[in-house]
Amino acid sequence: MPEGPSVRQFHERCCRLLGALVLRAAGGTRQLSVQRLEGRQLQQCQVHGKCLYLGFGDVRGVDTGCPGNSSGGGGAGAGAEGGTARDPRLWLRFHFGLFGSVRCDELARAKRPNKRGDWADPVPRLLLHFPGERLLAFYSCRLCECGSPRPDPSTDILEPRFNMDQALLALQAARPISYILLDQRHFSGLGNIIKNEALYLCGIHPWCLGSQLGADTQRQLLRRLLHFTHDWLDRKRRRQRLQHLIYQRARCPRGHTVQRAQLGPPGGLSRPTWWCPVCQPLVPAPLG
Ligand SMILES: [Zn+2]
Repeated sequence: MPEGPSVRQFHERCCRLLGALVLRAAGGTRQLSVQRLEGRQLQQCQVHGKCLYLGFGDVRGVDTGCPGNSSGGGGAGAGAEGGTARDPRLWLRFHFGLFGSVRCDELARAKRPNKRGDWADPVPRLLLHFPGERLLAFYSCRLCECGSPRPDPSTDILEPRFNMDQALLALQAARPISYILLDQRHFSGLGNIIKNEALYLCGIHPWCLGSQLGADTQRQLLRRLLHFTHDWLDRKRRRQRLQHLIYQRARCPRGHTVQRAQLGPPGGLSRPTWWCPVCQPLVPAPLG
C-alpha cells in the first residue's frame, strides 16, 4: 500500500506538470466525467498523508489562482476539504488503496500475463494529456471531486511542521500501539510497513499498549519512525530499494523466527503484522 513517502513521490511527479493545460482526459473512472478536466490548467498540487489533491483552474479569466501556490508548488499538506465558495477550481482527491500509483510521461506495462494469458497493459483510472506529448497516468486509485483542501501539516509525518507534542499525547492512549500508529488523524501518511519496521527497531511488541510505554520509549519510537519515513523518501528519490527488517520476513535480522497475525481494532481494518517474540517481548524492554 502506498504510504506517505510513495504519495510524496506521486505528488512530485504531478508537480512537474503544474501550470500545464489538460488537452485531453481519458480513463476508466466512473466517479467523474473526466472530460470536464479538458481545457483546464493544473494549478495546484497538494499532498497530505496518503491523499493527493489536484486543483484544476479555468484559464478563461474566471480563476484567479496561479501555478504553484504559497507552499512552493504544493509542498504543504492539506488535511480536509474546505470547499470555499471563493475557490473556483475543480479539485480532485486521490486515494491509492493497496496498489495505486502515478506515472509522469510514461505508461505502466504489464509485468506478467493476466488470467487469460494476455499481456495486456494496465488501464489508467485517469489519463491526462498535456502539450508536448506529456502525460500523467493514475492507476488503481479512487478519485473523487472535493472542495479546496485545508492545510493541516501538524499531523503529517513528512511535514516539517509535524507536531511532536501532539503526537506524543496520541501515543499515550491505552490502546495497542499497532492500532495507534495507523490512526491517520494523528499520524497521517503512516502505513503498515512503517508501523512494522518502527516497532521492530524500538523492540516494541505490537500488542503493547501505548500507555504501557515509558516517556523515553514513546519519544524514541516517534524519533525512529520519523527518521525511518524520511529515510525511505530519500531512498525513493535515489531509486534505492528499502530493505525490510521485519515486514514480510520469516526471520528477524538476529535470526529469530518471526510471528505474523492480522491485527486491527474491533470493527476496524486489520492489517498483517510481523514481530519477533525475542527482540520485541510483550513487556516493553528498555531500549538499547
Ligand atoms: Zn529477533
